Amino acid sequence: MPNPLYDNLFGKHQGKSTVFLQLPDGSTVTHDAFLKLSAQYANLFVQLGLQPGDRVAVQIAKSPQALGVYAACVQAGIIFLPLNTAYTADEVAYFAENSGARVLVCDQARAQNLTPIAKATGAILETLNADGSGSFSAQAAAMPDTFSTVDRTADDLAAFLYTSGTTGRSKGAMLTQENLLSNAQVLAREWRFSPDDVLLHALPIFHTHGLFVATNITLVVGGKMLFMPKFDLDLIIDLMPQATTMMGVPTFYTRLLGDPRFNRELARHMRLFVSGSAPLLAETHIQFEKRTGHRILERYGMTETNMNTSNPYEGERRAGTVGFPLSGIEVRITDSSSGEILPQGDIGQIEVRGPNVFKGYWQMPEKTAEELRENGFFITGDLGSFDQDGYLHIVGRNKDLIISGGYNIYPKEIELLLDDEAGVLESAVIGVPHPDFGEAVVGILVAEDNSDLDLDAIKSNIGKSLARFKQPQKLIVLPELPRNTMGKVQKKGLREQFADLFN
Ligand code: ATP
Ligand code: MG
Repeated sequence: MPNPLYDNLFGKHQGKSTVFLQLPDGSTVTHDAFLKLSAQYANLFVQLGLQPGDRVAVQIAKSPQALGVYAACVQAGIIFLPLNTAYTADEVAYFAENSGARVLVCDQARAQNLTPIAKATGAILETLNADGSGSFSAQAAAMPDTFSTVDRTADDLAAFLYTSGTTGRSKGAMLTQENLLSNAQVLAREWRFSPDDVLLHALPIFHTHGLFVATNITLVVGGKMLFMPKFDLDLIIDLMPQATTMMGVPTFYTRLLGDPRFNRELARHMRLFVSGSAPLLAETHIQFEKRTGHRILERYGMTETNMNTSNPYEGERRAGTVGFPLSGIEVRITDSSSGEILPQGDIGQIEVRGPNVFKGYWQMPEKTAEELRENGFFITGDLGSFDQDGYLHIVGRNKDLIISGGYNIYPKEIELLLDDEAGVLESAVIGVPHPDFGEAVVGILVAEDNSDLDLDAIKSNIGKSLARFKQPQKLIVLPELPRNTMGKVQKKGLREQFADLFN
């Protein structure tokens, strides 16, 4: 019976004694053992009364068992809903309620806090701990280790993935089997993945990057993952000689560069480093190549679409860009107000269409209608432009656009100049309310090694290459930029923090 996502990611590895996961203690999980475990989980879901199309929400540590729950959901036709482990009980309450999840799986340590939520929503609460123990695994252990895969079509929903909540409340993106499978296949092809690949996996698996990019690609080719509970610099350095590929958020790469043990010799066996989820500084790209001889491959995607564009595997990986549309995916730049397609080179909103684009936001028909056009194009909320050679440049989010004195100001342009100033490690440019201009430009700076920054000199330097209306009215030094687990700078928080600067 067909279930395209299950068959292509999991089912085809049935009976194989090849290693799927290698854990930090050196122990391994073969494809076959993994599939037996997930079949037990699928049987348990059926016993708990779940039907195809029901939702299972999980807030559990990264472990082979956690991936097993994902596989079990796909095999049983259940919609998988992974949640950030950092979410508080109040936040989980929103997701549990919003998604109507029938089962909520959490760590034992959280069970007490989540019990009232499960009671209120009528969900069954089960526990699954980082070491694989818990009420869920205890019951599953008594289940048969084969399961008759539930029929699904490409259009059936496979997962609800909530957006990171960088610009507002997280939205549940409804993703189909085809959304996930088509993307895993195109990425595996374009990034030349093979069964021989060993992926260094240090990303969380509640987000598209670690789950649908890293894990699905590995599964689609039948490769192996060095599966780490979290980013651990010593462990990464230890394991890198065994790996061929790594996927990370930009902070992974800056942290690696901060360690002198990370050098050309250590990365000798690697064939590919991929970066995404947040902009990679051009400087990081350059330093990385100097240190290792590797050019990081930057790509661009989001919860609602998986990956849209990528720098080329062969050919020039251009720093500060996110490359070309992936095969089968269309990307266009339009005017925010009129929706007209803009000429090459102009900055506008980035829109995407293809088999990767989600079906809409769960129970948010208005939001869906605002962002998903009838012709299938999704308005990503990001702003960018194509250069002459077809590389996509992202200049920031529509919501971070600053409008000061009636002029549009793109933070990225100013951030690039600030980052180049002596002593500046990184920067974030935001707009805050201003009585005369509507919004005023404010530059938040982080100093290298806590050095003293000469703010007047920086102001006058960047003033030389910036029109007056773009020049920051104020520069502020912070010890670090506020970031979420995916390394995204939380500009919303910064705007709130400095909202009263000019009032
Ligand atoms: P929310 O939609 O709830 O505000 P979010 O957009 O941060 O949260 P995600 O779907 O996790 O949630 O992130 C997708 C966003 O991350 C993209 O829209 C884009 O702004 C950013 N992003 C991803 N990859 C890159 C990249 N390589 N360069 C710059 N930005 C990137
Ligand atoms: Mg978003």
